[in-house]
Amino acid sequence: EALTVGELANRMAVRGGDVVKAMMKMGVMATINQTIDADTAELVIEEFGHRIKRVSETDVEDAIVPPQDVDADLKPRPAVVTVMGHVDHGKTSVLDALRKTEVVRGEAGGITQHIGAYQVTTDNGQKITFLDTPGHAAFTSMRSRGAKVTDIVVLVVAADDSVMPQTVEAIHHAQAAGAPIIIAVNKIDKPDADPSRVKQDLLQHNIVVEEMGGEQLVVEISALKGTNLDSLVETIVLQAELMDLKANPDRTANGTVIEAQLEQGRGAVATVLVQGGTLKVGDIFVSGATWGRVRALVDEHGARLDAAEPSRPVEVLGYQDAPSAGDDFIVVDSESRAREVAEVRARRMKNHLASQGGRGTLEQMLSAIKEGQAAEVPILIKGDVQGSVEAIVASAEKMSTDEVKARILHAGVGGITETDVTLAKSAGAVIFGFNARPNKQAREAAERDGVDIRYYNVIYELTDDLKAIMSGLLEPEA
Ligand code: GDP
Repeated sequence: EALTVGELANRMAVRGGDVVKAMMKMGVMATINQTIDADTAELVIEEFGHRIKRVSETDVEDAIVPPQDVDADLKPRPAVVTVMGHVDHGKTSVLDALRKTEVVRGEAGGITQHIGAYQVTTDNGQKITFLDTPGHAAFTSMRSRGAKVTDIVVLVVAADDSVMPQTVEAIHHAQAAGAPIIIAVNKIDKPDADPSRVKQDLLQHNIVVEEMGGEQLVVEISALKGTNLDSLVETIVLQAELMDLKANPDRTANGTVIEAQLEQGRGAVATVLVQGGTLKVGDIFVSGATWGRVRALVDEHGARLDAAEPSRPVEVLGYQDAPSAGDDFIVVDSESRAREVAEVRARRMKNHLASQGGRGTLEQMLSAIKEGQAAEVPILIKGDVQGSVEAIVASAEKMSTDEVKARILHAGVGGITETDVTLAKSAGAVIFGFNARPNKQAREAAERDGVDIRYYNVIYELTDDLKAIMSGLLEPEA
């Protein structure tokens, strides 16, 4: 672990000048801001008669595991619900309709903003949190990173279309995550709606509704007409009660990043689902490979909150850098601790990515594809919002065939950095920027190292080009 002379002095609680003097005596000329390696630091520490405590990276990580809660501290918390289903079956409509009932209720006075999740309050005062990122990509990417955020899956199946491939996929995802499913048979207003066929088709996937002797909860709704949405909400509440969901609100917070982006004038902003403890303005946190201090907490109505309790999704302002969806979020006791952990994690991520590197330029890559040699197209994706990055990753994965696969070295939110270029160079990858530009260092490095950076502001233009590259057809940009 490298640190500066000043930081070392801080940790030993001595004056920086004294450390510089001591080092001078040892024959090392250094300034306060100079970085020194661990071995030098060790000598200096001994010189001052302090005990050496080299902290291993695992120790650093372990120190920020959220506190263990005892049963007595646990209090009921709202359920967190993800809406899944086949494309066009009505996921977005269901989410919009449920959100609208909340707006009509007028509790927060008006327009809601998309922050990746929102909370509604039922007539009986129960709260439910909905993750507002329909589609499976977000769900699977979070799960693949070990984040468990969903308690209940609402599976939307259109009554006029019945069970489709993504319906089955969603069933598998939900089962793998151990999340109970509530079936919402949607579009029952349509003349060709056939809810009993849906129930019949679900049998093949071991989903047996009550009227067929099973226990599967099912609600027939029309998101468009607003039919039976209250029963859907009631059913969710019922399922949640069965699960007896609890968390300890009386400690420092931890949670998971639902989505993140860089915003003009606001900096790096992330929507965090608080899963334990209470998050407060002023709290210092580690989140993924970055950290920050909570400058403001904003809810889905744009209202500022002083604190956020378990199951509350909230926009967190005050990040140093944008994290990624699925990253953890843990409040820690000091800025130095936060910085230390974030640095360890960033370094580990970089090493991991570098170890996946290969070699070659776009031109070599393309000719290899043309000659049928290349099996993989390494790419690096940077975008302005998590949603677009995920959409691009999803379609890159989808267009992979047995012959040619897209290998995504890194996909993230933010501008294109020198690190991105270095990584792309080591793997012979092309960088795709979606509403993302390189900074000066990155631009210079790309020019020097011959790394291709392509810019887009329309997703399908990007995916079309990617497809062309993968078929070996696209010429490199001059
Ligand atoms: P998603 O792809 O699953 O998010 O589906 P959308 O919510 O975008 O809905 C797809 C289409 O179905 C849209 O044109 C909706 O207006 C329509 N739709 C959604 N729910 C209903 C419904 O209950 N009844 C009818 N008739 N149309 C619906």
